Amino acid sequence: MTDPRIIDGKAFAAGVRARVGRQVAALKEKHGITPGLTVLLVGEDPASQVYVRNKGRATHEAGMRGEEIRLPATASHGEVLARVKALNRDPAVHGILVQLPLPKQVDASAIINEIEPAKDVDGFHVINAGLLATGQDGLVSCTPLGCLFLLKDRLGDLAGLNAVVVGRSNIVGKPMAQLLIKESCTVTVAHSRTRDLPAVCRRADILVAAIGKPEMIKGDWVKPGATVIDVGINRVERDGKTRLVGDVDFAGALARAAAITPVPGGVGPMTIACLLVNTVTAACRQHGVPVPQE
Ligand code: NDP
Repeated sequence: MTDPRIIDGKAFAAGVRARVGRQVAALKEKHGITPGLTVLLVGEDPASQVYVRNKGRATHEAGMRGEEIRLPATASHGEVLARVKALNRDPAVHGILVQLPLPKQVDASAIINEIEPAKDVDGFHVINAGLLATGQDGLVSCTPLGCLFLLKDRLGDLAGLNAVVVGRSNIVGKPMAQLLIKESCTVTVAHSRTRDLPAVCRRADILVAAIGKPEMIKGDWVKPGATVIDVGINRVERDGKTRLVGDVDFAGALARAAAITPVPGGVGPMTIACLLVNTVTAACRQHGVPVPQE
């Protein structure tokens, strides 16, 4: 039997994807709308190719229109920009995702901010970041949104809980903190300059690690009974094999936590599931119809 403290992100994500599939079917039937996601991949980064392939497969499985545009690694900033502008104008494209990282001659933040905010299903555009920061409805970055779904499923109402987010990146740490503020948590954001990080972490009822340092958070940094969300994905060599580990020492944290996400199989699968959620949300808003309820 699996340990009930271990949050099965894979199973939860499968449920989210199935629900999205039913929503897509309803949108087609009632409104003749097929949500469409276009992923733009520049260059041949092997990890990016895997992510893009997985995203494409997930959109098709959910019954959406999935399109992949590939540009060579030598594509200029102007060429990438022109593609984004064309996708902004295409009414069949409800979601645009520019796979990062981009080659160095392309200014990634200028490209992201050229995406029509209503189609920015990654939630990285400054307008969507600003809407989240001011508590308004925009499109929310997929990984933190997935973390929030897992937390609410486990804990229900999060109001009043102490949340510590380790990491302040624009794509994970900051939006995660904003989402938790919106849920009325008392939020601390820690980073590389934080003093006495173990003591800060020990105050957390909810501990989110988004650092990119293998197993940096030790078991005795975890408050007994805390819920731990490990966003980190780190490749390490162990016993002659490459393994994926998170930012949290899983075995040590499991000894104290009430619930914890594993790596792999925790937050990772939720990221793609939330991309599908955002594409449905974007399509519904662009057509002025409500998101189908089940
Ligand atoms: P970034 O490198 O952009 O940010 C890392 C953050 O960690 C920074 O804010 C940095 O602080 C902080 N940090 C670094 N070292 C320390 C330290 N010693 N103590 C405290 N804080 C520290 O990474 P991302 O946010 O993009 O990603 C974080 C992790 O999540 C990575 O492992 C990444 O692979 C993973 N990830 C997983 C996803 C998924 O789908 N599961 C999706 C996206 C990311 P400072 O700002 O001071 O430099």
